[in-house]
Amino acid sequence: MELRAFPAAFGFLAVACSGDGQSPKAAFATSGTHSLVQEQLRQQNDAVLLVHPPGLPADRAHARDQDTFVVLAGEIYNHEELLGLLPDGAEPSGDAELVLKLLGRYGHHAFRLINGRFAAMVGTGRQVLLATDHAGSVPLYVRPSPGEVSAATEAKALAPHGRPQGTPIPGAQRVRRVPGAFQVPAGTVLEIDLPSGTARSHPTWTPPLHRRIMSEDDAVGAVREALERAVRTRIAPGSTPFVVLSGGIDSSGVAALAHRSAGALRSVSMGTDVSDEFDKARIVADHLGSAHQEITIHSSELLAQLPHTVWASESLDPEIIEYLLPLTALYRVLDGPRQRILTGYGADIPLAGMHREDRLPSLDTAVVGDMSTFDGLNEMSPVLSGISGHWSTHPYWDREVLDLLVSLEAGLKYRYRRDKWVLRAAMGDVLPRETVTRPKLGVHEGSGTTSSFSRLLAEHGVPEQHLGRAKRRVVEELFDRTVVAGVHPDETDTGEVVRQVAAGLRKEGA
Ligand code: AMP
Ligand code: MG
Repeated sequence: MELRAFPAAFGFLAVACSGDGQSPKAAFATSGTHSLVQEQLRQQNDAVLLVHPPGLPADRAHARDQDTFVVLAGEIYNHEELLGLLPDGAEPSGDAELVLKLLGRYGHHAFRLINGRFAAMVGTGRQVLLATDHAGSVPLYVRPSPGEVSAATEAKALAPHGRPQGTPIPGAQRVRRVPGAFQVPAGTVLEIDLPSGTARSHPTWTPPLHRRIMSEDDAVGAVREALERAVRTRIAPGSTPFVVLSGGIDSSGVAALAHRSAGALRSVSMGTDVSDEFDKARIVADHLGSAHQEITIHSSELLAQLPHTVWASESLDPEIIEYLLPLTALYRVLDGPRQRILTGYGADIPLAGMHREDRLPSLDTAVVGDMSTFDGLNEMSPVLSGISGHWSTHPYWDREVLDLLVSLEAGLKYRYRRDKWVLRAAMGDVLPRETVTRPKLGVHEGSGTTSSFSRLLAEHGVPEQHLGRAKRRVVEELFDRTVVAGVHPDETDTGEVVRQVAAGLRKEGA
């Protein structure tokens, strides 16, 4: 088994019923072909609507053996290791069948073994299992009720089937204004008893809490090796990798390793009329001999992507939306065929890259804080690129890379007055020196997004001290329109939403 250019499915809406169910219908933000799969098990009927790459069959996204049915959206990166656990000669045809075989051997503990970017639903006996990868990088939502469990990779797919009497799930976040719906936590298997609709939660991953002491050389070597493997397992054999390249150390590191792995590289950088980092990305692209493209997007055009970013990410966090805005815009203007996209997303979290002071206690406080609050923010949702038909993947949040990076003692992360020292050192021989030594610039800073959103609100009379609150309300209103009410983002007028929020704040005397 090897990685394909695209996963067999990008997402799904699954309905498991004790009795006869209806055919699920869904409007996904993810663009793709819809295929319906139905399976009758002994004690449940499962119907699944898959959204998958056009022109490719979705059959590798589901598998059945007697009384167990598996549906998987996304992909698995540690095939080789997993295959080694199965009897000789077992040759699963795809990721869903691989999971099916692992379930036969390990039960629901199978999900503890998988390093991937996926969401899965399993019907077996009278149970429904719902599993997320360690990072919850493919969001998964569920509405459990007695005799019927619905689950989907986009919350909006559960919104129209309103059933207020969902069974509560301890420890899971409710979905705003979608009654009875919860988000499956990251790194979790939910085991739902179908007749009663009650859920038990089995965590399958937790961020390392301990810190490892390593020599400089060992740490640098380990980071390089883990990242090389993560990049390699994310490139489809025989293809030229494609990297969204800011020119910072994170994405430049991915670009360099992708180039080493595949012997060729394509890359793209985005800038706005306000600012860009084209020269920085160009240095890296030239160094690696990448087929490199620069795309300029007007900052008003960036802001116009607010509804699409909320619609795709289903995140309610205004800071996250600001981070995601430029990339969403970039994915949307990438024309030509659909792409498998590698990003440098997420390196700052385990390495506390935004943290630039020489105080190790506060560095570790930042890492612990961020690693305990990322769940539910949907920063890495594949839907962000999926609305434009692309598939994205993030090597820094590979399970093994993340485990290693989080667990390194803080003095390896900030060292010799350098942020992300261990990563910079690990890339020293494959990148230009100025790329390795340049400090971090956030994507929203580099492209001027934060200032544009603030300016838009200020132009509508929102006073400086209420900008944060106003941004939150704009995002909530966009969520209510695009996710809950199902209005297409093209039909959502950001200017009107901003005026409404500004007027509301004025009325409250803000
Ligand atoms: P950041 O939050 O700045 O680290 O951005 C996360 C990732 O998004 C980077 O590692 C890049 O892969 C990608 N990215 C950020 N800014 C740009 C840009 N201006 N052009 C292309 N890709 C970018
Ligand atoms: Mg960066």
